[in-house]
Parts: sequence; structure tokens; C-alpha cells
Amino acid sequence: MARDLSLVELSSGVHALLGGVNTAIVEGPGKTAVLVDTGQDSDYGKSIKKALASLGLTPTVIVCTHSHADHYGGNAYLLRQFPDVEVVAPPIEANIIRSPELEPIYLFHGASPLPELQSKWLRAAPSPVHREVEAGAVTLGGVALELIDTRGHAHRQLAVRVGDVLLAADAVFGGETLTRYPLPFGQDIAGQLAAHDTVAATAAANAVTILLPGHGAPTSDTRAIVALNKAAVTRAADAVLTAVDQTAGGGTEDVLAACGVTLGLTMDDLARYHLNYCTISAYLGYLRNEGRISAELSAGRLHWRRAA
Ligand SMILES: [Zn+2]
Repeated sequence: MARDLSLVELSSGVHALLGGVNTAIVEGPGKTAVLVDTGQDSDYGKSIKKALASLGLTPTVIVCTHSHADHYGGNAYLLRQFPDVEVVAPPIEANIIRSPELEPIYLFHGASPLPELQSKWLRAAPSPVHREVEAGAVTLGGVALELIDTRGHAHRQLAVRVGDVLLAADAVFGGETLTRYPLPFGQDIAGQLAAHDTVAATAAANAVTILLPGHGAPTSDTRAIVALNKAAVTRAADAVLTAVDQTAGGGTEDVLAACGVTLGLTMDDLARYHLNYCTISAYLGYLRNEGRISAELSAGRLHWRRAA
């Protein structure tokens, strides 16, 4: 069944399908379209197909911003409907899109993952990636785009600028999403903080009038959404540091549990627990790289401590 997503025009020829995860349809020459992300499953694919039909467009390219299952899960369905579509994605992310079992595998520390980590939220249907793309100006499907390095939320995530529209993917989240998930998912926190600055600089340098986050409502206030995201990451980093002090040499699980209390995280299922564990690991790695905490092993346990 197609999902009930709302189709809105962000700017002339740039449309968004708003849902739990947002996707975009960019008009190309001769009634063609470039798609940016495809949602989490075939239902999203069906909604995108319906939207394309209502606009009278045929897709030629799918740009995958990153490899989280909820952003490319519609690819397989759309490729069955439109077999000539070219799929492009950044390096590393491309490998996971081709082999979606890698996402539950990394969330379970490389081991064969628990079945609870293999739902469609975390494991999409596989999709080919025909070409790997790097950040920079590029013409895809006859449309001039700027691909922007916004790694951090995912290891090699790209955002996409089309004229005055910035399709930010998960470089920034909408306000409601941050309220619901006070520990925004991140795999490289230094990258995530740099990506916030990149989003702000790109918006300012190109007179961006509207920004579409991967989750949440489109906004014309790019400064506000960037500030909100920076505040969320800073608050989470502070919570991790406080947890390191509170647990006095605790391990990653102890730090996660303490942050769960401070930030009010809900962790009542194994998927959410492991997503948070991954993000807390990213914060601990970041703080250690910054020289602010140390990692010590003793008696078969890893102890995180505030650096002397
Ligand atoms: Zn994501």
C-alpha cells in the first residue's frame, strides 16, 4: 500500500514528499526527475511512483544521501518499476546500500546480528549503486546539483543543493524529531558538528530559501534549525562527560545508562538500545580524540575516565 505522504513544492521544480522520512523529486529536462532518497520501504516507493505520475515525470536518477535503511528502502521497488534509473551514492555508504545486512551487523559490533536488529527500520532491501559520487558540483539526469560533504550522522553522508533549496538529509533534524530523540543518531561527532557549520555556510553563501531535513518539516529559518541541532549535540556531549564522572570509571554500558537518565532516553527495545549504544560510542571516541577522557582496560573491563 502506498503511504499517505504529502507532496509539496519547495521551490520551482523541486518537490518534497513529507512523511516519517522525507524524500525529494527534482524536475529535470523533458519531464524527467531526479529523486533524492526513497524512504524506508516499498510503500514509500509506491507513494513516490504515485507522486511522479501526478507530476507527469519519469525518474532517471536516484541520489542516496546515506546508507541508513529508512533513506534508501524504496530503491528496490522503484528500480523494478523504472529499470533504467541510475542509482548514485557516496563511497562507503554505497557498500552498505548494496549489502544492507551490514547495518545490523555494525550495530551489533560486527557479530551476526540479533533478529530484532533486522527489521526494515535497520535493514532495507538491497539496491545496486551504479556510480559512487563525491562532494562537489555535478550534473545528474540533466540537473545541476551541489553535493555537500555532511559526514557525521553517517560516515560519508552527502546533502544536496538544488538552486535555493538545500536537501540536508540527516545533517540536521527538525525540532520535533530532536524533542523525541534527545540523543540524535551520530557516527562521527566531530563530523556532525562540522556538518552543522557546513549547512549554515552553504545556506548563507547560496541564498538558500528553504531547507528540507531528512526528518521534520521544511524550514526557511536555516540559522534556527542549525542552532537547535548544535545545541542538541553539545547537550549530549555534556551528558556523556557528566556520565563518565558519575560512573567513575564505568564502561560504555554504564555511560549509556547514565545518559539515558540525564537525557530522558527511551530504550525499551533492542533496536533503540543498539542505536543509542552506537551513538554513545561515537561520543566517547570523539571525547577521547579531543583528549578529554581516557580509555583504560583493567580486569577485562573498559573504563572511561575524565582525562587528568
Ligand atoms: Zn540517517
